[in-house]
Amino acid sequence: MTSVHELIRDAAEREAAATTRGIGRPSAAPHRRPIALRATGASSCDTGLVRDPWAIDQDPGYGPGASADDEIPGAAPRQGPLPAKYTDASDEELTEWIRAAKEALGERVRILGHFYQRDEIVEHADFVGDSFMLAQAAKEHPEAEAFVFCGVHFMAETADILSGPEQAVILPNLAAGCSMADMATIEQVEDCWRELTASLGPAESGDLQPVIPVTYMNSSAAIKAFCGRNGGIVCTSSNARTVLEWAFARGQRVVFFPDQHLGRNTAKAMGIPESEMPLWRPHLALGGNTEEQLRDAKVILWNGFCSVHKRFTVGQIEQARAEFPGVRVLVHPECPAAVVEAADGAGSTEYIRKEIEAAAPGSVIAVGTEINLVNRLQEQRPDLTIFCLDPVVCPCSTMYRIHPAYLAWTLESLLAGETPNRITVSEAVADDSRVALERMLAARP
Ligand code: SF4
Repeated sequence: MTSVHELIRDAAEREAAATTRGIGRPSAAPHRRPIALRATGASSCDTGLVRDPWAIDQDPGYGPGASADDEIPGAAPRQGPLPAKYTDASDEELTEWIRAAKEALGERVRILGHFYQRDEIVEHADFVGDSFMLAQAAKEHPEAEAFVFCGVHFMAETADILSGPEQAVILPNLAAGCSMADMATIEQVEDCWRELTASLGPAESGDLQPVIPVTYMNSSAAIKAFCGRNGGIVCTSSNARTVLEWAFARGQRVVFFPDQHLGRNTAKAMGIPESEMPLWRPHLALGGNTEEQLRDAKVILWNGFCSVHKRFTVGQIEQARAEFPGVRVLVHPECPAAVVEAADGAGSTEYIRKEIEAAAPGSVIAVGTEINLVNRLQEQRPDLTIFCLDPVVCPCSTMYRIHPAYLAWTLESLLAGETPNRITVSEAVADDSRVALERMLAARP
């Protein structure tokens, strides 16, 4: 049987040959490497992945990659054009400019890199982590004047909320939103709340509120603030269960924004039956439910999802088990419930990292999460065989928007005394968001 390593090597060779011939790289600058295809050489979910992000930033949609089918909200920011100096530069030039600017800026500027970023970004990061770890890193470095957040919009907002008022948080490409976060707007959430509170009426028993709002970290600052104002809380994929327990100590039911899968997987693990988890579809009256269904609910799930994690299927797990008997399957809880049930373990990015760190040499591990992270984990543990469950390369298309050209432009702008793409959360929203975040930090299992 052909091993995953052989498949990867063969495909990488094919890709290298195609690149040498100039195939599939219509807008690439000299020596520019196709981004996701370079990682494994396997087929990709969208041929547009060979295009540079500035070729798609102006298009209506999230562009190539996992979020290709998501509708981009009209209000989502668009990135202005990058100077040709950066779009025409080779990889080597960009790396050199980034290193030089970073060195000149010193400790005044810190680069934060999300786990799902491409390697060409991560190599320059001062801190690498998930969204909350990076926001905490911003909080813990009051000496820095600016943070360049190589992640997506909601993450930069959280870093701005937790960092000092004089510290700037910069998103190198404003088109780097998050399709999941954008599936819940504050207007839709407020409409939902009005309908819910009107249908559920006042508290029925004791001190328990009729409903507690809980939002995943992957949501706008406005929604975090909404939760802070309305007795609610924020959660991460690491502490979702603890947060739901916190909420059930205060309310009869929960409304969970915006990821239905994290909400459902967490509630199922707590023994809540699916029949008590209605889905709230924001364009329908009562979210498409009856008043009775809402009254009988324990967790009302917002109809949002992560385009990357919803691609994983039970069929992929079955195939991995058939091809690699003894394979361990680890998935992220943003995957559908059937996938989480079929896996050997489910947890946050940090959980997956730690499980791989602790794996015995020679282990074979199939992972259901973002491809850039999976490839990096394999590089870090060459003694293991680690592969992505999805045979099709499909990176997060919004993370993909942070290209070294944007990072070089951002750092050189800072050197020139400019502060481009600063993400600022208003004081009122930041104050209310902090209430919800602090409740999360104080929540104990
Ligand atoms: S991986 Fe999913 S949740 Fe994370 S930034 Fe991309 S679209 Fe959003």
